[in-house]
Order: sequence, then C-alpha cells, then structure tokens
Amino acid sequence: MTSLLNDNGYFNDHCLAFQIEAQDIKGRIIRLDKPLNEILTHYDCPDDIKRELGKAMALTALLGSMMKFDGIFTMQIKSDGRIKSMVSDFATNGNGSGVVRGYINIADDVGPNEPVLGNGQLMITMDQGQHMARYQGVVELQNGDLENSAEEYFQTSEQLPTHVMISCDKSANGHWSAAAIMIQHLAQNTQSEMTRDDEKQKDDWNTATILLSTLKPEELLDSELSLQSVLFRLFHESGVRLFTATQIMSGCRCSEDKLRDVLASFDTRELRDIAEDGVISMTCEFCKTDHKFELKKLIN
Ligand SMILES: [Zn+2]
Repeated sequence: MTSLLNDNGYFNDHCLAFQIEAQDIKGRIIRLDKPLNEILTHYDCPDDIKRELGKAMALTALLGSMMKFDGIFTMQIKSDGRIKSMVSDFATNGNGSGVVRGYINIADDVGPNEPVLGNGQLMITMDQGQHMARYQGVVELQNGDLENSAEEYFQTSEQLPTHVMISCDKSANGHWSAAAIMIQHLAQNTQSEMTRDDEKQKDDWNTATILLSTLKPEELLDSELSLQSVLFRLFHESGVRLFTATQIMSGCRCSEDKLRDVLASFDTRELRDIAEDGVISMTCEFCKTDHKFELKKLIN
C-alpha cells in the first residue's frame, strides 16, 4: 500500500489497483502505450477497427491483472460486425508484471458502413496453473459494447455491480494509446447482513458512479497525467488507497519449440500437404512472426 501523494506516479503501461477510502468500493486503472503500438503496426486497416483492438487489450490487461495467481487470462470475441473475431491475452511473468498481446480477424464479407463489433459473444478464460481450476465464462456481446459486456460478465460471474470505462485513440502524430478504469461494489461480499449499512452503501456506490461518469476519455488517455492524478481528481473527497501496480509489457510467447511440438502431432502425409517447396511456414497470429521448418527435418 502506498499513499497517493508520496508516490512518484505511474503513467503508461501500468495497471494500478485502488480502493476508495473507508468504502467497499475497489477499482483498477490502466493505460497502455508500447504493447499497443507494437501490435497495431502489424495492421493496415481503418482506425475504428484498430481502436477496438486497443480497447480489448486494455480491458484484457486490466482484468488479467486481477488474477490471484500467476497465469494466463484470455478474452476471445466473435462478432457479426466488421471484426469477425478478436483475441487478446495477458500472461503474468511472476514478478508483478505481465505481457499483453492481441490480434483481430477482419471479416471480408461485411461492408464498411456496418458496425465494427456487432452482436456476438465474449468469452473469458483464466488459467492459473495448479493453483486454481481453469475458469471459462461467456457473455453476449451487447451491440458490440465492450464496457457493457464486461459489466455483464461481473454481474453474472460474481454478482458484483461494476462500472467500466475504456478509451482508445490516436494522437495527431499517429501514436496510439488505450486506457481503462473500473470500479466494483464489494459490499455484499465483505460485510455480514448484521453490520451492513445499506443506505450508506447505496450512497457510496451512487456517488462513485456519478464521479466516474464525469471522467472524460481524453483525461483517462492523457499521458501527461499520472494514473494517481486521475484517481485523485475523481475521488479526492473520500480519499483513495493504492495497492499494487502491475507493469504491462509487450512481447510474445510463441516459439519454434512450441510450434515444433504442434507439428509433431501431424503424420507425414499431413506434413507433406501443408509444406510448400519443402518448407512449412507457420505465422504467429499475435506478433506475425513467420516461423519456418524444413520438411525433411520433421519427417526423418
Ligand atoms: Zn508470436
């Protein structure tokens, strides 16, 4: 735990957990820069599609940083809009940091005036190794709205009232940034019926909700403004307590060894079918690296 004022300030590529002082309201705030810009350079597509990938990556790292143990958090979206599918994941590194990645498949049969994300599904998977059972949850993608879908996910999976705000935009010089903030009302979980002051709980939650709604997307994205400053602007009247900060890194987990393991499950005939001129190429969907394998080395 650190105080707001003594801290140097976290800016880009960090996620901060916080609690509104003396209230059962917790939250998280994140801003992404480097991982997002590295991923988006792979895409030659309209900005409204890139923006949705940025929002998904910010939301994924925000939710992934809530995992209790080291693991991999994956968000998969299928939609009938211009984005056919979108995957982003967040893997912790075991030292208070994690790597976020993402990719999109653009539909080739949906017109440019159709919504970027239409109706569909948002699926969340959490794999925290031996410590916890693998979790999978699915919610409807309500009219392509990631915020609503995330709120619905918490309502159905944990019965926690949640507000989420996500922004992603490009500056005049073409640099992208994405950011997200969420608050959650933990009252039902943390207090017994006997001690609960329902009126105060309701008032606290309504006030926090209203304060969050005053936050402008450009403030949330402003790289000159530390994450602490954003929280202070919103909740200074009650005070904010800060918890851990998670560093968000760029990178990829693909490797030739892992792909060689995948290829080992194919028989010789299948390998010959997918080879071209004696070489099998496999492209990582996330980092777009082309991994090449010589067929004769795989089948001897
Ligand atoms: Zn990769």
